Amino acid sequence: MPPNTILILGGSYAGISTAHYTLKHVIPSLPSPDSYQVILVSSSREVLCRPAAPRALLSDTYFDQSKLFVTIEEQFTQYGQKFHFVHGRAKHLDHTRRVVVIDEITQTTTNTGPVHAELQLSFHALVIGTGASTHSPLFSLNAHGRPELVAKWKEFRTAMADAKSIVIAGGGPTGVETAGELGEHLNGKAGWLSSKMASPKCRITLVTSGTDLLPVLRPAIGQTAESYLAKLGVEVVKGVKVEDVIPNDAGNEALTAKSEVRLSDGETRHADLYIPAYGTIPNTSFIDESLLSPDGRVSTNPSTLRVDKAGPLVYAAGDVSDYARPAVHILTEAIPVLCANLKRDLLAETGEAAAEDRVFKADESETQLVPIGRGKGVGAAKGYRVPSFFVWLIKGRDYWLGMTGGTWSGKAWAKEV
Ligand SMILES: Cc1cc2nc3c(=O)[nH]c(=O)nc-3n(C[C@H](O)[C@H](O)[C@H](O)COP(=O)(O)OP(=O)(O)OC[C@H]3O[C@@H](n4cnc5c(N)ncnc54)[C@H](O)[C@@H]3O)c2cc1C
Repeated sequence: MPPNTILILGGSYAGISTAHYTLKHVIPSLPSPDSYQVILVSSSREVLCRPAAPRALLSDTYFDQSKLFVTIEEQFTQYGQKFHFVHGRAKHLDHTRRVVVIDEITQTTTNTGPVHAELQLSFHALVIGTGASTHSPLFSLNAHGRPELVAKWKEFRTAMADAKSIVIAGGGPTGVETAGELGEHLNGKAGWLSSKMASPKCRITLVTSGTDLLPVLRPAIGQTAESYLAKLGVEVVKGVKVEDVIPNDAGNEALTAKSEVRLSDGETRHADLYIPAYGTIPNTSFIDESLLSPDGRVSTNPSTLRVDKAGPLVYAAGDVSDYARPAVHILTEAIPVLCANLKRDLLAETGEAAAEDRVFKADESETQLVPIGRGKGVGAAKGYRVPSFFVWLIKGRDYWLGMTGGTWSGKAWAKEV
């Protein structure tokens, strides 16, 4: 085994992209490339095109399942022994000893469930890309990967068929997209001349504490989203928080439990299904608190993407990091910067004159595309409002599933940028 391990935690947009970029452009440019290997650890064997989840959860017929879920290890056979995949969960990072303890899953299919073993991995360099989990298990490969997610989708689909009322909490893109997809799937569309669906088969309520939907975008765009949702049988309740849900694990452990949703305006809504579609929980429970920012993400230098407090050659990017807001286009721009600084730091160790740090500047422009159902959408790109047709064309048709394959296979990272 090569002595120097570049350890990457998390097998999704951040981890997979960093692994390809490192294997293609960092290791080959070092004086002794054979002395480095990449180990990628992920709690799921497969990666999910996560933006597609709001539609994918409704039916397997909407997407080619072999593109929606992709086996990580198969994407790296091109690198031979330079790459190793470990199926497991990082459960403790000892950044002073530079070791990560892994709860490795050595076998998934046994009569008594998965077989676990403890593995200790020392690292020369570390990239943390363990992302964030969602409150609802419908939107991500939370702890147990694809089998768990598919089972949750199945349970939800069965309950959805008879649901007369659904309450969704969260006025960001996940809430809006989920409401739109559910609305069109269950209710169809109102006629051209109707501004809203008069008597939808399923009453869908989207609750947001904001004054408008989609806070990253200007209010007028959120208002257009609201009007599109109305045509799909979705009522939007604004400026109101979900204060309590009974039972309190409805929409989570009790995924399909009927519930009472208590709102901050004093109203209580009955829900056959409740979906918490607000916020995320950073996957950082294995990291020492001293390395975290107050919101629980990894405290990362936003310019260099180093985790300065963790010692040399430690980096973070993606939803686990506090470097920027969670978005794939921002993450995609961060990977070449992270890897340039990794290369710089590794070269500096070999005695080469250290290059300047490459500096990351997160795109803070008004950029977000939000499909609403299968034919419409709202959004802006680089500060310009874009028409509904554009949102459908770029994202709403397939939620970028067609483009994501290149990220997983490494083709998107063929060139050093
Ligand atoms: C429903 C939904 C829709 C979205 N739509 C869009 C969109 O349209 N456009 C956009 O730009 N962004 C979108 N996002 C945000 C986008 O999905 C994230 O920014 C992106 O997934 C972040 O990638 P990541 O690699 O940082 O983390 P994640 O995608 O969260 O992946 C983290 C990976 O790490 C693994 N992991 C977790 N803990 C551990 C551990 N302890 N040890 C080892 N492995 C671990 C997980 O299994 C997972 O595979 C959406 C998010 C959601 C939830």
